[in-house]
Amino acid sequence: ESIIPTEITSKEQAQKLIDEHDNFLFDCDGVIWLDEKLIPGVLQTIEYLNSKNKRYVFVTNNSSKSRQDYVEKFERLGFKGITKDMIYPTCYAAAFNLKEHLKVPEGSKIWVLGDSGIEDELREAKYIPVGGTDPRLNEPFDPHHELLKVDPDVRAVVVGSTKDFNYMRIALTLQYLLHDNKGIPFVGANIDRSYPSDGLILPAGGSVVNYMQYTADRDFINVGKPSTTLLDVILEHSKFEKEKTIMVGDTLYTDIKFGIDGQLANSLLVLSGGTTKRYFDSFLTTSYKEEETRSMTPLCYIESFGDIIDLIN
Ligand code: PLP
Ligand code: CA
Repeated sequence: ESIIPTEITSKEQAQKLIDEHDNFLFDCDGVIWLDEKLIPGVLQTIEYLNSKNKRYVFVTNNSSKSRQDYVEKFERLGFKGITKDMIYPTCYAAAFNLKEHLKVPEGSKIWVLGDSGIEDELREAKYIPVGGTDPRLNEPFDPHHELLKVDPDVRAVVVGSTKDFNYMRIALTLQYLLHDNKGIPFVGANIDRSYPSDGLILPAGGSVVNYMQYTADRDFINVGKPSTTLLDVILEHSKFEKEKTIMVGDTLYTDIKFGIDGQLANSLLVLSGGTTKRYFDSFLTTSYKEEETRSMTPLCYIESFGDIIDLIN
């Protein structure tokens, strides 16, 4: 049985979508904003959710900024009352995973290939990030560089998106991934191939993670969407019931799969981000393995989450 997603176009449909769910999980980039630009109508729709006492959190696969950075970003864009505990970037998911699932002791050194968000969240979790944004790693590659000596106290490797992707960093990260017979955990912040920004499609964190996976010939633990481990943490922290929760996102293989694999009540695809109507139509008519198609097909879609407020009013 193939699912035919419903487009939300009427007041009744929009109202029902809001009324039927108590809790909302929002992807950020492509749903709430495109980089620094708020998507029209989204702020007003979220204010409407506030007036109806709906609860919501934000789940972003972008690991480059910490929860505190996101609190400031939401304020800058005009949102009120968004607190740290409502934001789940994958830099936080990585630190949480090291502590709660991989049981890496506090005080351990963690090698980072990624931006400051990962370093900030690791520090907050009482780890010592090494590598990361260290400016010495901007130097040209030199096999005799003192930094290329592996520090035996490093207990895990976290890889996420970075715009400072250079040979020094890749080569060093590889040393840690191979160290101790590949014995230390390899955490990947996300599997995203690309994201839309300023009219361009740019490489995202998943490309960096997969590069390192390939060169080290070992698998990583994905702590971002669609990981059900991440969903479980969010539901537990927020006390959301799956049956009353909807996932809203712009990407089929991360956001929509996250909602479906996690057996949430509903998944809403928005076309304001990386998925175009044309791509979505072709996805629906191309035959993948049945299981794969089902896990990425939303029950409904809408041009933008910001359209909800216009439909309701
Ligand atoms: N920005 C960067 C740099 C990313 O690496 C990613 C995801 O990998 C995103 C944005 C997308 O984040 P979101 O899950 O909020 O769409
Ligand atoms: Ca997105």
